[in-house]
Amino acid sequence: MDRESSSTVAGQGRAIPVTVIPGDGVGPEIVRSAMRIIEAAGVPIAWEEAEAGAEVFRRGDSSGVPQATRESIERTRVVLKGPLETPVGFGEKSANVTLRKLFETYANVRPARELPGVPTRYSGEGVDMIIVRENVEDLYAGIAHMETPDVAQGLKIITRKGSEKIIRYAFELARREGRAKVTCATKANIMKLTEGLFKHVFEEMAPEYPEIRAEHLIIDNVAHQMAKEPSQFDVVVTTNLNGDIISDLASGLVGGLGFASSGNYGDGIAIFEAVHGSAPKYAGKDVINPTALILSSVMMLRHLGQGAAAAAIEDAVLFTLEEGLAVTQDLARQTGGDVEHAASTTGFTDQVIANLGRQATTIPVRAHVTDDTIAPRPEWSYGPERYAAMSRSLVGADVMVESDLAVDDLGADLARLAGEAFRLSMLESRGTKVYQPTGLSGDGVRWFRGRFVAAEDGREPSEADLVDLLGRIAARHRWTEVLRLQSFESEPGYTKAQGE
Ligand code: NAP
Repeated sequence: MDRESSSTVAGQGRAIPVTVIPGDGVGPEIVRSAMRIIEAAGVPIAWEEAEAGAEVFRRGDSSGVPQATRESIERTRVVLKGPLETPVGFGEKSANVTLRKLFETYANVRPARELPGVPTRYSGEGVDMIIVRENVEDLYAGIAHMETPDVAQGLKIITRKGSEKIIRYAFELARREGRAKVTCATKANIMKLTEGLFKHVFEEMAPEYPEIRAEHLIIDNVAHQMAKEPSQFDVVVTTNLNGDIISDLASGLVGGLGFASSGNYGDGIAIFEAVHGSAPKYAGKDVINPTALILSSVMMLRHLGQGAAAAAIEDAVLFTLEEGLAVTQDLARQTGGDVEHAASTTGFTDQVIANLGRQATTIPVRAHVTDDTIAPRPEWSYGPERYAAMSRSLVGADVMVESDLAVDDLGADLARLAGEAFRLSMLESRGTKVYQPTGLSGDGVRWFRGRFVAAEDGREPSEADLVDLLGRIAARHRWTEVLRLQSFESEPGYTKAQGE
């Protein structure tokens, strides 16, 4: 495999516009470190400095991301950012999540590779994986409701389009990087419709990449296997919450937060940041390890087609770590080294700059087949017309009810209210059937789901039947939510309750 060959734009003399957000806490220190190194490597970047995070919230902007910053990103389409804080009491949404969502950066990519000079319990095993995490859907859609004063519900949203995009992204990344295997990690055995859709799309798409081994593992087993034998993983693609957790696990395998880099990629837009937060206790002290953000900026340079500069900087970082003359506090602590005389953020940065042009010998930079000019934008196979044309029918409704009645009394009453078009097929509590009597009583959470299905097989209830049903229930009970039960191409589009 050839090492990267693209030249820097130095010879072309045109600076590349990039939005830089210094961020909060240690952010400005690590961002400054990365900018100095990029400059020393000769990549001309026209930095547009922009604000987001704590100060913005405190000024009263509840999004944490001001309009001027949004406009800068619209222009440059590339961001290098420090960590952002959401101060308690100001705004309820994280500015990080807002940025990812505003620009639909659907792919969160986190490499975890053994580093020279950073000993771990897996050193020498060749850990070298990339976690590809879906970044906008799932429980992070942030849609939650209090159904009653004492019952909270959050929605897990998985779409076919979102799944196709991230899985396509993972396979394209594996192909571009010459990777051998893609592991899809889900909880499809339990969450059959949501995680199951993700797994199904993976299995549909895998045959398009015959040179890549495709496997599916249940996410809890992935966690187990990662702790046991992490070198078996190559590219891992997964849903948002799963990915959040296992990507941190993967970072921990190779040295921890001081070394964990990441990129958030959308169509023609990308945001690069360290995985760690603002580490406020170290802010302004010049002691934080800047490696995570430097390696994130290496990912940024590859995205910008600056493969040669990216490799030179990564080489210099790996050489610096291998040489061990500038050891930051966190690493000194991990290795039992001299914490008192550890390298400062500035000192480590100076050493990386001094080492530009040198290469580590024990663990060299991984070869990259081509520059990561991401948004591989193959034609998505997603075609909305095929879903619009699918046959569907209304087969019933789930009605959520807050009630202090005894289960059997509530069940009997809802059964009476079902009317001619429906019959009550069951009552469940937190997913477990409690009526018709099952011998199970649930744990009395005061919130039930009545499942009403068509009274006669083959007779589809009408919209008016549904509205009438709700009216009858509302007259006697406090209902909190109603969901249509539908089937698509005769396949039920809903799950059964435990015990149904
Ligand atoms: P954190 O800032 O990541 O710091 C937790 C601990 O990790 C630090 O105290 C330190 O451990 C270690 N650490 C983090 N970065 C390091 C580095 N570069 N070098 C060496 N050690 C490092 O997590 P947090 O304290 O939970 O979060 C602080 C704030 O950051 C919160 O407001 C949070 O919301 C925000 N945050 C933002 C992002 C983002 O912008 N993407 C991500 C995560 C958190 P020791 O104490 O053991 O030295």
